[in-house]
Amino acid sequence: MKILIVEDEAKTGSYLKQGLVEAGFVVDLAGNGVDGLHLALTEAYDLAIVDVMLPGIDGWQLLQRIRHAGREMPVMFLTARDHVEDRVRGLELGADDYLVKPFAFSELLARVRTLLRRGRRSREPVVLCAADLELDLLRRRVHRAGKRLDLTAREFALLELLLRHQGEVLPRSLIASQVWDMNFDSDTNVVEVAIRRLRLKVDEGFAPRLIRTVRGMGYVLEVAD
Ligand code: CA
Repeated sequence: MKILIVEDEAKTGSYLKQGLVEAGFVVDLAGNGVDGLHLALTEAYDLAIVDVMLPGIDGWQLLQRIRHAGREMPVMFLTARDHVEDRVRGLELGADDYLVKPFAFSELLARVRTLLRRGRRSREPVVLCAADLELDLLRRRVHRAGKRLDLTAREFALLELLLRHQGEVLPRSLIASQVWDMNFDSDTNVVEVAIRRLRLKVDEGFAPRLIRTVRGMGYVLEVAD
């Protein structure tokens, strides 16, 4: 799942980003409202976390413009100001939650999960499955045949991508851009190495094997007939 953070305080922004990445989310961080708006309108996010006081376009304006453009992802406001009128204004504008700084990261994470669950209730399952493999998007857990698998955040994101595109061969370049958020350098074997590690955890000792290499093309996760 992909989260956008718009926060001009570099320290808070990188703290949030690091925490959410460690929790297994893919995160983009914008340092001002203009960049935040651009990302919100050009990329697909499951949630945005937006500071109210931002240079350029502030959090209120950002939210209005996101909603005006028809983007319905949940938006959580962050603010140092704890005034009742701010809360009311934010909620009237269509904010889904409101968190006052300073906050404990665990509280933010709990609210992020609640918002994601609420946002997805009618649209998409929160557990992705293939055979006896189950990936829980909200709890960030993976089980195979009932056994908990211990995946890194990156492996989780990689498995999520493969599961979302079950049966499709995904080129390495696409995997690199989605999971590593980087332009793919054809000399690097980072994807190959990650796939190998993931396979050891997901397929070793289980049947059927789910992750397959399609030579010269990429990787596919599928339940063979
Ligand atoms: Ca600020």
